Amino acid sequence: MKSLDPYEFNQYIMNQALEVITDYKLIKPKDKVAVGLSGGKDSILTLHILAGLVDELDFELVAISIDEGISGYRNKGIDVARSIALKLDIELVEGSFIEEFGFTLDDITDLYPSVCIPCGVFRRYLLNKISNKLGADKLATGHNLDDEIQSFLMSFSKAELRRFSKFGPKLDKIHPKLVPRIKPLWKIPEKDVGIWAVINGVDVHFAECPYSHTSLRAKIKNYLNQLESERKGTKLSILQSFSKTFNFQKKEIIIGQCKKCGEASSLNICKACEMVHDIRNHNNIKK
Ligand code: SF4
Ligand code: ZN
Repeated sequence: MKSLDPYEFNQYIMNQALEVITDYKLIKPKDKVAVGLSGGKDSILTLHILAGLVDELDFELVAISIDEGISGYRNKGIDVARSIALKLDIELVEGSFIEEFGFTLDDITDLYPSVCIPCGVFRRYLLNKISNKLGADKLATGHNLDDEIQSFLMSFSKAELRRFSKFGPKLDKIHPKLVPRIKPLWKIPEKDVGIWAVINGVDVHFAECPYSHTSLRAKIKNYLNQLESERKGTKLSILQSFSKTFNFQKKEIIIGQCKKCGEASSLNICKACEMVHDIRNHNNIKK
């Protein structure tokens, strides 16, 4: 088997990301881009790629880490995020569930069949809120090709057609308080992100979240990996199929403001406020 040439591999990774950034106009000159930095390999690669393009594309970069409160797991990721931000000389702003909502994710595990449900809602809420405070024009996430296909199949299997407008490498600005999300790794398979980290000796937090096995995503991920190992190219074909079928048509969604917290929401009370209210009224919260 031919050994991997690190230089060529890094070029391939950069080209894939640059193609998406250019083709889909993810970043404009003078933009302020916030990167959601968990300390995992995907967000670290996203930060590395964007840090390398700051001068060429003329934009500003900042990183945001969210501590959900998953003991023995997230604190290690945040340590990695801090050291990488320091190394790349990028400002890191931190937020946490405990400060914002008054509980950690560990406190509420008994309330949900999969704690990934509130985790995703609260993390997106907080990332958006902090991005807004920082005056960011874009919020870059480490979503790779595998994540995108998993999300697509999850929405497909639950007939959540409304969510299809959230696919694609760039989400439009549909409300002044909703920072558009961009996904520079959109075309890069998860396996390649891992290879990038290993061949470059990058310090990333490789551990898996202790709750990940509870999610539908984990089941779909295993299924897709099995399919891919039997039929190489399956994942890319799925991405191409849904790109062609749905063409990322952004359906008109009316977004207003949450009556409670004032953040952008398509409902009177946003999902995060609704969940916080339910959680605070629940007796099973571990506190
Ligand atoms: Fe949160 Fe689930 Fe991801 Fe863990 S696996 S960080 S609980 S969304
Ligand atoms: Zn709200």
